[in-house]
Amino acid sequence: MAVSRFAYVKSYELPDPILPNVYVVFRLDGHGFHRFSDIHWFAKPNDERALELMDRAARDVMDAYPDIVLGFGESDEFSFLLRRSCTLYSRRQSKILSTLTSHFTSCYVFHWPTYFPETPLAYPPSFDGRLVVYPTQTEVRDYFSWRQSDTHVNNLYNTVFWALVQQGGMSTTEAHEKLRGTVSSAKNEILFTEFGINYNKLPTRFRKGSTLVREEEVVAPLPTETMIREPSTNLNDDELPPAVPEVEADTSVQGLDPVGQPTESV
Ligand code: ATP
Ligand code: ATP
Ligand code: MG
Ligand code: MG
Ligand code: MG
Ligand code: MG
Repeated sequence: MAVSRFAYVKSYELPDPILPNVYVVFRLDGHGFHRFSDIHWFAKPNDERALELMDRAARDVMDAYPDIVLGFGESDEFSFLLRRSCTLYSRRQSKILSTLTSHFTSCYVFHWPTYFPETPLAYPPSFDGRLVVYPTQTEVRDYFSWRQSDTHVNNLYNTVFWALVQQGGMSTTEAHEKLRGTVSSAKNEILFTEFGINYNKLPTRFRKGSTLVREEEVVAPLPTETMIREPSTNLNDDELPPAVPEVEADTSVQGLDPVGQPTESV
């Protein structure tokens, strides 16, 4: 085909390759889900259907993109780890980011009626996405610890907050005021003494988020499949999928810091 005189504009599209040989984390987050969850009557503090729908969309993304070896989700966000050797779309940043974000969003909308049969979508939800590269397993491990610690801090706060509002009859302003500056132990105490709730007995999905791990089939060349696992307390050494350790064995890498005692300032 003859090249038109307009084709020069293509040269303004600059290459945007991701550095070779680094781990890539892709995180997406629901846009304006505070409002979205209100309008669609999400149960507070945790709507299990909404969390399951997030997990379902994440699982579909992992099934469509074999380069993703690990997923972690909480609230309206999901993080995915791409293997270091990933050559997806020649590692073009905008192509990877836009395609994965779009695919997740489509899956979320596609499966919505299964999880919310009584609640039609009032408007189309959207997600923002970002890619972050990490040089070693230490940062990758700390990244997922960071997100899981965030899950814990937010969930503890939200659980007490909604107990004060829904069972304690407080206004949202009063509940925020009561919780201002409180540490974890004080929140646990309020939950237990005022509402008889043992925080540690709440579902692990709420307290620890969802972890999806790609497990390689032992018998090649069958395709790999994505498993949804009960999240464990920490992402231990053996939680990293087999595809990840492409670096030389680094025996100095320690297990994750305990996620149970995050700082209140996170
Ligand atoms: P932004 O567009 O900046 O991300 P946002 O309104 O989505 O803004 P987030 O910080 O991402 O704010 O928080 C998401 C909010 O969505 C939570 O605070 C909570 O109110 C709501 N939410 C998400 N998932 C659930 C769920 N499973 N159950 C109940 N509420 C949820
Ligand atoms: P990529 O994922 O690289 O974009 P692609 O298969 O989407 O690959 P494109 O170059 O974007 O390839 O071309 C889109 C193709 O989709 C067209 O070549 C055509 O075959 C088909 N297509 C798109 N829109 C229409 C339409 N309205 N009617 C018929 N065919 C269409
Ligand atoms: Mg956000
Ligand atoms: Mg959000
Ligand atoms: Mg969020
Ligand atoms: Mg196309």
